[in-house]
Amino acid sequence: MTATLPPMDVAGRPDRLRTRMADADLPALLVTRLPNVRYLTGFSGSAALLLVTADELLLVTDGRYQTQAAEQLRAAGVDARVEIGATSADQHRILADALGRPGRLGLEAHGVTWAEQRTLAGVFTDVDLVPTDSHVEDLRRVKDAGEVARIRAACAIADAALAELLPTLRDHPTERAFAVELEHAMRRGGASAMSFDPIVASGPNGAKPHARPSDRTIGDGELVVVDFGCIVDGYCSDMTRTVSVGDPGPDGRRLWDLVAASQQAGRDAVGPGVACADVDRASRHVIEEAGLGDAFVHGTGHGVGLEIHEAPRVARTAPGTLGIGTVVTVEPGVYLPGVGGVRIEDTVVVTEDGADALTEFPKSLVVAPS
Ligand code: ZN
Ligand code: ZN
Repeated sequence: MTATLPPMDVAGRPDRLRTRMADADLPALLVTRLPNVRYLTGFSGSAALLLVTADELLLVTDGRYQTQAAEQLRAAGVDARVEIGATSADQHRILADALGRPGRLGLEAHGVTWAEQRTLAGVFTDVDLVPTDSHVEDLRRVKDAGEVARIRAACAIADAALAELLPTLRDHPTERAFAVELEHAMRRGGASAMSFDPIVASGPNGAKPHARPSDRTIGDGELVVVDFGCIVDGYCSDMTRTVSVGDPGPDGRRLWDLVAASQQAGRDAVGPGVACADVDRASRHVIEEAGLGDAFVHGTGHGVGLEIHEAPRVARTAPGTLGIGTVVTVEPGVYLPGVGGVRIEDTVVVTEDGADALTEFPKSLVVAPS
């Protein structure tokens, strides 16, 4: 599947990071968050430290990844030195030797634990360790065409899986059984993994936005929230549909229509230069007007990419604006404890004149009963 995907511009990323570092007067950055290491080098292993300076890119990992790291960096066209350290003490020594004395070394403050900071302070004794804020995550906000193609491919697999599975709701599976089949269908479709464990929440369970699939049998006329996604070449998809086998009744229909209108308003608001908070406001306004503002208990959306939740946030207090190539979700929901919930979510990419939906599965409430 990955063979048919267009290339990504991985090799150009370290220099874009260096430009940011220069603007921040930061001579060196130790990248420890693995999605950021992957973004900058193409290396997808589970252990690595990446030192970025003006003239060096040094990836330090352990022996398990000696071959893989060399292969992946070469495939990505990234010009970096790869060093192997058997223990973290060895790896730290390699980094300290390479670093010399640049004055300041940035750490990813949002990704380093207190214990790690203390360890690193004992390793880099000749430099000032300084906290940095999301340099790589900020670069990741805008996707290149290759990244969008991967997210689109993951969304297409999820679309196809739901198309295949939705009719089986008529057979009254349990939430868990339906979730398992959805996972199988996505894996068969070419997904390498799930973006997250699928949420299948029926009836009153739908009132919990992040309910775990239970052994509850899905009945006719119940609202069923299905939120799921998969990964293609490291990139996630994310989509929610709320459906009912047969008519859920006037209250269910009204709730669904309201959330659908809110979701459309949010999608219509997405465009280049638009403040993230304004997209939230557009979706939230529709639900507040209906008197259900208190039942919309989360933000309207989030960025999607190498991580299922990444910058930018689309929420009331979210800073920043959307750029062309930013991929975000629009997913308002209404949750009524003891009754149920409705959420509808698309993943969209910001374009020159608005946004393209990457999740294309139709939104319709009723699955015709058998
Ligand atoms: Zn979702
Ligand atoms: Zn989401």
